[in-house]
Amino acid sequence: MHFELTEEQLMIRQAARDFAQTELKPGVIERDEHQKFPAEQVKKLGELGFLGMMVSPQYGGSGMDAVSYVLVMEELSKIDASASVVVSVNNSLVCYGLEKYGTEAQKEKYLVPLAKGEKIGAFCLSEPEAGSDATSQKTTAIDMGDHYLLNGTKNWITNGGNASTYLVIAQTDAAKKHNGINALIVEKGMEGFTIGPKENKLGIRGSDTHSLMFTDVKVPKENRIAEDGFGFKFAMQTLEGGRIGIAAQALGIASGAYELALQYSKERKAFGKAISDLQAIQFKLADMATEIEAARLLCLKAAWQKDHGLPYGQASSMAKLYASDVAMRTTVEAVQIHGGYGFVKEYHVERLMRDAKITQIYEGTSEIQKIVISREVLK
Ligand SMILES: Cc1cc2nc3c(=O)[nH]c(=O)nc-3n(C[C@H](O)[C@H](O)[C@H](O)COP(=O)(O)OP(=O)(O)OC[C@H]3O[C@@H](n4cnc5c(N)ncnc54)[C@H](O)[C@@H]3O)c2cc1C
Repeated sequence: MHFELTEEQLMIRQAARDFAQTELKPGVIERDEHQKFPAEQVKKLGELGFLGMMVSPQYGGSGMDAVSYVLVMEELSKIDASASVVVSVNNSLVCYGLEKYGTEAQKEKYLVPLAKGEKIGAFCLSEPEAGSDATSQKTTAIDMGDHYLLNGTKNWITNGGNASTYLVIAQTDAAKKHNGINALIVEKGMEGFTIGPKENKLGIRGSDTHSLMFTDVKVPKENRIAEDGFGFKFAMQTLEGGRIGIAAQALGIASGAYELALQYSKERKAFGKAISDLQAIQFKLADMATEIEAARLLCLKAAWQKDHGLPYGQASSMAKLYASDVAMRTTVEAVQIHGGYGFVKEYHVERLMRDAKITQIYEGTSEIQKIVISREVLK
């Protein structure tokens, strides 16, 4: 068993760390305050190859492995989880599915610009009445011969306003239940496609979350991904990889808060000495460091399994379940270590605490991860 990273993995981690410090950190508090999408930063992430980092160079990507993806997600999320979620969605929910299941024509037209970061993608599964229960799709894609007629509403769509390419899950044949669902590529600007207002959120406030409305949108048949009825399996398989990204995002939020708390504890004096000299604080730091390391290993193991062609659904659910809980616990303790200063925006930890919460909710809540894991262990 080897725990060393390769030269290439170390380099990409350093590049992400530098990018986070120089490009994401300035302005992160203001973007959170004003719910401003990190448009310039995302453009630069695209130019550096982070938005299609696991896509083959043949299709405009950087051809890196999932381990590198975890390293990058951790580094970016330490500083700005609103920017890192764009990297996560574009890579693992949009590019991955297009590369694995798309036709050559779909890859040329849609994957290449997404992998190069010239365009951004969105993954549209959730609906007002279909969240955890994703089989209850009310959005319909009726087969009209040469096209599908798409009608319905999608909720909570990350990159909803800034994306150009949307992978939309919809029911074609209700009688076939989840085997009658399709995944369609929808372009911004198609007639009948409208975008609702941006959601006003607790955390990841810079991320661009919208509901989407489809009214008699004509989607050409050639925009269906894979065979008729594959849409639900497509969504579930895509989410298995997506959860590695969100687990690594949670890991980054936790390690970012931990690093700030560690530093602060050495600087803050109380009762004539640094608070890091108090055993109560030392034990908090010890718990944080241990849990973060365990979360990191779960993330890397899930990624390693993916890279080695092994099943990784259970591993990615375990990583997300654990890392998101660690993110919540660690950020709450980081605020506590900062005392009153932790409660104000300048010290960053209150934002990380708010950002942590979403990692227990999206791409399957913690309860849904437990369903996935228990199903596997009881097999
Ligand atoms: C900021 C944000 C961004 C998002 N981005 C996207 C996106 O890009 N694309 C997309 O498709 N979706 C996205 N989502 C949606 C997200 O994936 C859903 O919110 C999530 O899956 C939960 O669905 P729900 O909100 O309908 O909650 P519900 O499914 O209604 O769940 C409510 C509660 O009941 C629990 N519960 C439900 N069923 C069970 C069960 N069987 N056993 C035990 N407990 C259960 C849940 O765990 C939860 O605690 C996003 C959401 C947010 C808030």
